[in-house]
Amino acid sequence: MKQGSTVYLVGAGPGRADLLTLRAAQVLSTADVVLYDRLVSAEVLAMARPGALLVDAGKEHGRQEETQQRILEQLDFYARRYRHVVRLKGGDPCVFGRGAEEWQWLRDRGWEVELVPGVTSALAAPALAGIPPTFRGVARSFAIVTGHACGEQEPDWRVLASVDTLIILMGVSRRARIAQQLIGAGRNAGEPVAFVENATLPDERVVTAELGAVAEGMVEVANPAVMVVGEVVRLREKLAGLLSEAQELALARAE
Ligand code: SAH
Repeated sequence: MKQGSTVYLVGAGPGRADLLTLRAAQVLSTADVVLYDRLVSAEVLAMARPGALLVDAGKEHGRQEETQQRILEQLDFYARRYRHVVRLKGGDPCVFGRGAEEWQWLRDRGWEVELVPGVTSALAAPALAGIPPTFRGVARSFAIVTGHACGEQEPDWRVLASVDTLIILMGVSRRARIAQQLIGAGRNAGEPVAFVENATLPDERVVTAELGAVAEGMVEVANPAVMVVGEVVRLREKLAGLLSEAQELALARAE
């Protein structure tokens, strides 16, 4: 092990600073340097020790491999000069965040690494919008999938179609194709879908639609958003208190 420095791979949670773990807040408060990703909110960044060097490590679109290599070299560069180096990533570092790759690379170079898990947007964004991934009698399984297929094989939607709740990250630009594939693999076009944009932040917006409408390109969504497909989406009206009193009454009468 190289002496003295530690690189902390820290999950920044979905956005709101009070959703950071205690360990993440502690590590940020003693950071000498923080290399942060595009998805990290200003509110979380403000938790860094005053005077800490803040380095934007955001990825440029289409140049991901090049940027990733640059980030690794920056981590090595800062670890040689500072004791507490924080690599801050949106959500959880090991959920589509390449956290484990950075961990491996740093360990290979002899650096002490501490992983600090975070609250992943994949679970927190839907849940806070009133959409739990599982619910007794409604959904017994869920999968977290990437909707981004750049340079890699597309997810096997035929296999995934049998999972009750599908939580899709990085799927905004390919949402129509994903919905078409799911319908092709047997999902019902009338099934509900939700997109939770900018989860936990002041500009959060939730869009709900039927899978068929998404497949036809009729649903406008902005990045970043978590896409959820499954019957659990219907629980939102009840859990998020969106039902009007009149609707509640009508439902109660019907039951
Ligand atoms: N490691 C992250 C995910 C990185 S992949 C995590 O655990 O949350 C990036 C994707 O995460 C985005 O394309 C989007 O689908 C989702 N995402 C992250 N933060 C989000 C937020 N605040 N609101 C909505 N989606 C978010």
